[in-house]
Amino acid sequence: MNTKVIVCMEEDDKAVLAEAGRIIRQGGLVAFPTETVYGLGGDALNPLSSQKIYQAKGRPSDNPLIVHICRFEDIYRLVSKAPAHRKMLAAAKRLAEAFWPGPLTMILPKSEEVPFETTGGLSTVAVRFPAHKTAQALIAAAGGYVAAPSANTSGRPSPALAKYVLEDMEGSIDMVIDGGEVGIGLESTIVDLTVEPAEILRPGYISRDMLQEILGRVEKDEAGETGGQAPRAPGMKYRHYAPHGDMTVVSGEKENVMAYINEQLSLQKKAGKKSGVIATDESAARYRADIVKSVGSRADELSAAKHLYTVLREMDEEGAEVIYSEAFTGKGIGEAVMNRLLKAAGYHMVQV
Ligand code: AMP
Ligand code: MG
Repeated sequence: MNTKVIVCMEEDDKAVLAEAGRIIRQGGLVAFPTETVYGLGGDALNPLSSQKIYQAKGRPSDNPLIVHICRFEDIYRLVSKAPAHRKMLAAAKRLAEAFWPGPLTMILPKSEEVPFETTGGLSTVAVRFPAHKTAQALIAAAGGYVAAPSANTSGRPSPALAKYVLEDMEGSIDMVIDGGEVGIGLESTIVDLTVEPAEILRPGYISRDMLQEILGRVEKDEAGETGGQAPRAPGMKYRHYAPHGDMTVVSGEKENVMAYINEQLSLQKKAGKKSGVIATDESAARYRADIVKSVGSRADELSAAKHLYTVLREMDEEGAEVIYSEAFTGKGIGEAVMNRLLKAAGYHMVQV
């Protein structure tokens, strides 16, 4: 298959979006920018489209897809109307008023119209209304319901740039809409509204505090953090976002972290291994590695979120065989960054 690449920085490029929408309505796949990462879109209500998405990504088919909509009211077609589920929908409405369109995905009981192929066999559906204008226009052109996981092959870092979509997907999808670099760079926060209290299944830009302000108490699925028990978002059990090199996250007081990493770097050098360090603007000059990449300033954790996946991909491009990363803390986006780092490292962390 020939993958068509179209640069589209304006949501009012009607001809491009009409063509992309037609491809999706006819059962094809189009990758497109969102405010979180690039998504790989297919018709969420067409089981064959969902199967194609799994195939193109090499994704296990028990790992459900997020359905993207472009108006709140479109959620009603996706969600169960049973009286027992009304309260969940009311909570969704309150969250939507606060955070949609935006980087928040809600889990709700599904209606019969959503194929099990889209939900990985689950009786719940994940729904998001993205803020990115091109994404909204594409969803509208595609008929209103676009299933879209991140546009990377399974296990690889999610793409923040169209060139990384092509690296993974060229030849296996119909079209890529290149809208430049994404804004946030990490996937949406996922909150499960089918349990009481609601539970965060994946941390992201919308933090626990922000959700609690609207809903009262919100729990966090700790299993998703440790790599131990099975997490409740099926996708979180897989090794994710992983670069090819062996990666370790190093946590502790900053001078200790730098000393430990430099010590390890000397050992790796003796062993003849090409080394990489994921650092910050404040620390990058202090490391003696073959490749040192800063994800941004500690003072601005949003910049770390935005550059993390690209830095992981660059480590591969430059052939890093062993990678050390500084840890991140913090309650908001720093927590989401740390969650992805640990998954990228297969939960290999050293405390110094
Ligand atoms: P991605 O599409 O790559 O951002 O991954 C989507 C994430 O959403 C995966 O970790 C899925 O397991 C999770 N997810 C999607 N639908 C559901 C659902 N119905 N219940 C729980 N988790 C879900
Ligand atoms: Mg993904």
